[in-house]
Amino acid sequence: MNLTKFFFEKTTLVPDKPALVFEEATYTYSDVAEAVKQYANLLARLGVKKGDRVALQLPNCAEFVFLHLANLSLGAITLPLNTGYRPEEINYFLDDSGSSIFVADDEKFIPDISGQKSNGKVQTIIRKGNSANSLQALLKESQKSGDTVPDYPTQADDVALLCYTSGTTGKPKGAMITHRNLITNAVALQKVWKWTENDILLNVLPMFHIHGLCVALHGALNAGSTIIIHEKFEPKKCIETIGKQKCTMFMAVPTIYYRLMEVWPELNPDLSSMRVFISGSAPLSEELFERFYSATGFRILERYGMTETQIIASNPYEEERRKSKSVGYALPGIQIRIASASGVDVKPGEIGEVLVKGENVFKGYWQMPKKTRDSFLGEWFRTGDLGYQDEKDEMRLYLVGRSKELIISGGYNVYPKEVEDVINQHSAVEESAVVGISDREYGEKVVAAVVLKEKQPAAFEDTLIKFCKGKLASYKCPKKIVFLDKLPRNALGKIQKHLIIEGFPKG
Ligand code: AMP
Repeated sequence: MNLTKFFFEKTTLVPDKPALVFEEATYTYSDVAEAVKQYANLLARLGVKKGDRVALQLPNCAEFVFLHLANLSLGAITLPLNTGYRPEEINYFLDDSGSSIFVADDEKFIPDISGQKSNGKVQTIIRKGNSANSLQALLKESQKSGDTVPDYPTQADDVALLCYTSGTTGKPKGAMITHRNLITNAVALQKVWKWTENDILLNVLPMFHIHGLCVALHGALNAGSTIIIHEKFEPKKCIETIGKQKCTMFMAVPTIYYRLMEVWPELNPDLSSMRVFISGSAPLSEELFERFYSATGFRILERYGMTETQIIASNPYEEERRKSKSVGYALPGIQIRIASASGVDVKPGEIGEVLVKGENVFKGYWQMPKKTRDSFLGEWFRTGDLGYQDEKDEMRLYLVGRSKELIISGGYNVYPKEVEDVINQHSAVEESAVVGISDREYGEKVVAAVVLKEKQPAAFEDTLIKFCKGKLASYKCPKKIVFLDKLPRNALGKIQKHLIIEGFPKG
């Protein structure tokens, strides 16, 4: 089983059908297959082989798609990296994963890896420009050396993707996602969302996240449909594209739907071709669901998933059965249980942790056997999300919160510990506590309470935010900092984060 092979076997019958549209360029399924072959040649020439890790820190672009599929065709593992990651973060990912190739968008994105364990072992490729290590120059060079036809040397349970997710202990961990996980998920989504070769999906989500990569891209290629990809989300361009290109599907995070609503009245979009709007990665509020419905006549279809499991549950395709505040029913082939903290099933309707089992569940965390063991209860993966099932409605799932400390801002996950570790590195800081406060646009906003060693000038809040931005992707950095004499603690000395949250004005 190999994801690239799986896609291509299905689409050899529709070679001239547009598969991918990026900006002005359209690539048919045979164009994509040809490009993937060329890119596989290049990677093989650079020494990439089965099991190697290839890190891509790229914005949405056609090259991302070709590199990813080529990489998988060789049995290697794609490691997608957020384009907002700072050099320190990149160094950690390259070192931890032992990547052999790092593909950057531009010269200016190459981190200084001198002094790192990976130093000297990572070859860098630059997407833009004509330097000797640019993608174009390397592709040209590799074409001289003849074809290395990929032979898809993988088994179903071999790792295809290594996706780093933040962790409660601070350092992000690499979730190992197999070819079987990816194929199972794409096939299940095709069925529940009635995805066909006639669909045209507009994707404005970044492909360095599983939402853009595994749900949007893989879903579209699996169905033999067309995917239009924008480099980034621009509300006006997005709305115009839906009408002009006769899109039938759109998927986004709640923050994007919020921003679309802000410009909707002035743009009066043409939605005559649309059949479904899908939302996930963060809770969709009832208010936004209703606002979108009154503005467009469409009930957003909300689904629930995570990096480690792909999509777990989805609202039904039938519009009248879509409900706000519920993430729907388990996908075919997936089982859901709700358990107490001690791992015992709660009664239907009671709140507990959502546990998941199925062929969609990942293989474990990269080189972290203990963390992997801790995240499973027997065969069941512990999502860390809290929810309940409605027995009277075919065990429909509702999420109510999280058992782990996680902030979801604009669809991106932020673990407070990682941010606190960075704030605490500043020489003027005694200690800090990072929390998420609710925000209409982002769902949650990262903020911090900080105790200083000694009084600082009034502008110190900006200085500290800037300090964080030098070390962390900007979505993880606090938007606001309050300075306290001491952090609120309970009798056992545990920081009472709810008191800190209450102290911030709501956004
Ligand atoms: P990620 O691994 O970045 O995809 O984030 C996964 C987390 O996002 C889950 O564990 C949930 O906490 C959250 N999440 C995803 N979809 C939803 C949803 N529809 N409603 C509420 N939370 C969600």
